[in-house]
Amino acid sequence: MSADAPAHQLFDKILIANRGEIALRVIRACREMGIKSVAVHSTADADAMHVRMADESVCIGPAPSSESYLSKAAIISACEITGAQAVHPGYGFLSENAAFAQALEDHELVFIGPTAEHIRIMGDKITAKETMRALGVPCVPGSDGGVPDYESAIGVAAGIGFPVIIKATAGGGGRGMKVANNPEELEIAFRTARAEAKSAFGNDEVYIEKYLQKPRHIEVQVFGDGKGRAVHLGERDCSLQRRHQKVLEEAPGPVITPALRARIGKVCAEAVAAINYIGAGTIEFLYEDGEFFFIEMNTRLQVEHPVTEAIFGVDLVREQIRVAAGMEMSFHQQEMEINGHAIEVRINAEKLPNFSPCPGKVRVFHAPGGLGVRMDSAIYGGYTIPPYYDSLIGKLIVHGRDRPEALARLRRALGELIIDGIDTTVPLFDALLSDPDIQNGEYNIHWLEKWLAANFG
Ligand code: ADP
Repeated sequence: MSADAPAHQLFDKILIANRGEIALRVIRACREMGIKSVAVHSTADADAMHVRMADESVCIGPAPSSESYLSKAAIISACEITGAQAVHPGYGFLSENAAFAQALEDHELVFIGPTAEHIRIMGDKITAKETMRALGVPCVPGSDGGVPDYESAIGVAAGIGFPVIIKATAGGGGRGMKVANNPEELEIAFRTARAEAKSAFGNDEVYIEKYLQKPRHIEVQVFGDGKGRAVHLGERDCSLQRRHQKVLEEAPGPVITPALRARIGKVCAEAVAAINYIGAGTIEFLYEDGEFFFIEMNTRLQVEHPVTEAIFGVDLVREQIRVAAGMEMSFHQQEMEINGHAIEVRINAEKLPNFSPCPGKVRVFHAPGGLGVRMDSAIYGGYTIPPYYDSLIGKLIVHGRDRPEALARLRRALGELIIDGIDTTVPLFDALLSDPDIQNGEYNIHWLEKWLAANFG
């Protein structure tokens, strides 16, 4: 088959190994490309929107994700039953599982994502940092590799200075991180971080970094063709976080100048081109006082990818499918010009002020619309949100000609949104958007926790 044959000649059918809004996102891309979609679901998700929207569906197990959405064997069997040739993993679940990518390859199925080897390198945060440093990407000062005991930890802290952050090599999802301001705190933090890493990730290896006081979380979207060509699609600012989890994301970053963007974008694109990276990836940095410090790379589509899609007009899922099918990506660096400003808010089924999960029956759902508004959600009126999975139930994304217009549009769209029957994080955004710091784009990764303590405490 020639390299420029349409993707639907290479894939007739794609299985989506996920649920919720991201499963819908992938089904939509498949439909526009003329590719059939297969949904998989647990018994708890028989009535879910992704099951209704896909061309076919297969029940792959009971409610706990360990027995359904994380079951490699069940998903591979579902491919065999339906004749799907490729699997899109979405985000979370098996999306960064190297063994899954390898198992698909072993069954002559295509994993829509990077190679098992790239997932493995970037999944181990120490190896990821070493690899990136060798490729010329600036990293947060810290230990060279794992720190085996408290004496070594003290040695590292003496070198870089307090405060320090202890992080799990196998960490993710904002878990397994501990801050220490002095040697006494370090002793306790080191011990608890290791114990938590062991129970959460089955690996107690930890490493140490300088704890930055007022950084912004800036991440660069990259995309590679697997043959040494890679493009960057600017940055997203994801500094508004609670417990290291993103709450609101925007692109472009309010403090990133065109010169900074060009500089860090070039470093990132060259790094992933050098390793023949294929598909979408995100290189995450902390940014402070004009400097970027690499923290990790995510080898998958991110939750917040729509803000990048909005300002560049690129369908990232479509491009993922194209390169997985052996085709060229359809865009070049020279064409990548930013158009306006986009903001996403994550809507969770959670009760404020404690953000406690609040699943249950949605009585009424009305999505906002109009110019520059995108609502990615898999809920509907009458749907019962099961208690077993992530509390993210939707993402509201707005696009405007500039940041003030995007903010005004976000307020307007939030005003139109109706979700009745359950508690959500929508009231948080109503309050947040009135704050002058948010209006001025003046916030860092610690800002939201402080604001929450003052306003929702
Ligand atoms: P995870 O994979 O668990 O998401 P990351 O390494 O991406 O972990 O870090 C998540 C968040 O934790 C960052 O966005 C930032 O808010 C905070 N963080 C991580 N490393 C540091 C550091 N060295 N200094 C200050 N904050 C940090």
